[in-house]
Amino acid sequence: MIVDIDRLPREGFKISKNFEFFNGEIVDEDAVFLLPLHADITVRKVGEEVYLKGKIKTLLSFVCSRCLIPYELPVDSYFDLVYLPEELEMAREELGSDDLNSSFYYSRKIDLKEVVLEQLNLTFPVKPLCAEACQGICPVCGKNINNGDCSCVTNNSDSRFEKLKIFLKDKR
Ligand SMILES: [Zn+2]
Ligand SMILES: [Zn+2]
Repeated sequence: MIVDIDRLPREGFKISKNFEFFNGEIVDEDAVFLLPLHADITVRKVGEEVYLKGKIKTLLSFVCSRCLIPYELPVDSYFDLVYLPEELEMAREELGSDDLNSSFYYSRKIDLKEVVLEQLNLTFPVKPLCAEACQGICPVCGKNINNGDCSCVTNNSDSRFEKLKIFLKDKR
């Protein structure tokens, strides 16, 4: 959905629609959409600045990076952005300001699908976890330790939960 900056109605406009993305487009290729992504966006132009305000909503399934079991993560996020003409980009770089809520539009166009994709990707966890306390799987037998310890003896000291366990034992 491409917005032509020069054809924007004076009063702006509003869209409410579903967007579809391929796994290659989203930052976590293992994530699966369980519901279509729905976006409500208001587009308004003031001078040469284009204001995009809206929300995205969907439900995704991620694979936990520790136990490798899929879990659901709802996305319900708001954004409030301003797009400036590309001519201002140089000036911005020279000023060295780094305003995350402002971007630039090129060739007098804004692709709303790209905006939505960017906002969606921003909501993704860097390291997907089914639970903050997920203990992961045993590196030896592959058993999900969340369901109880296995009988393997491991030297897997890089897990912070192993360290925590040792710490707690020492305190006893
Ligand atoms: Zn997990
Ligand atoms: Zn084991």
